[in-house]
Amino acid sequence: MRSRRPNAGLVDEEQEYLQTPEPVPVPERFWSFETDGPFERCLVCHRSFRDEPVPYLIEKAYERDEVVLELAVCAICQTEMMREFSEASLKLMQHFIGEHVDVEAQMRQFSEQFAGDVEPWVSKCLIRRSPVDPKAGYRVAARCVGEVLDTRFPPNAISVAALEDMMKILSPQTKGFLNDFTEKYFGVPTGNDVPTILPV
Ligand SMILES: [Zn+2]
Repeated sequence: MRSRRPNAGLVDEEQEYLQTPEPVPVPERFWSFETDGPFERCLVCHRSFRDEPVPYLIEKAYERDEVVLELAVCAICQTEMMREFSEASLKLMQHFIGEHVDVEAQMRQFSEQFAGDVEPWVSKCLIRRSPVDPKAGYRVAARCVGEVLDTRFPPNAISVAALEDMMKILSPQTKGFLNDFTEKYFGVPTGNDVPTILPV
């Protein structure tokens, strides 16, 4: 019976949208600058990304085209970290992102247009929608699973100017947590290179 088919009744375009895309190996842009290869372990819990199919977030901060900070954190640790954010900060950040980004449209656009090259997606600021300025700095983020890009989450870039706007709305508690985090793992005080640890 036709009605028993999954997705029966969807128009062709929607059917296509729901199809599982071809796996895309983690792009070199999201390899570790330090090892010149894909990230292999979670920065926090050291879980192996190869042995366990847990999604992970990669963030790299650039200044004058140089990588100044990079990290890969598994989804479990990311959730734990976000628990340290104050409720007020989380709400404000969600509001801030919602004001500037149509997340669903972004995901749909990515699934329709992505052809294997992440550069078009990381050369424009997600928040300001203008090209990122390498001199001023920016950070890129992507979500991966095992050895492939998680294409349900479009890779993105956020300019330093937009990051500064985002940092302004955070509570002292959340800023304190991010400061401690960067100090613990990178031995540097928080600047604009702070990881955002957000699934955007
Ligand atoms: Zn972890």
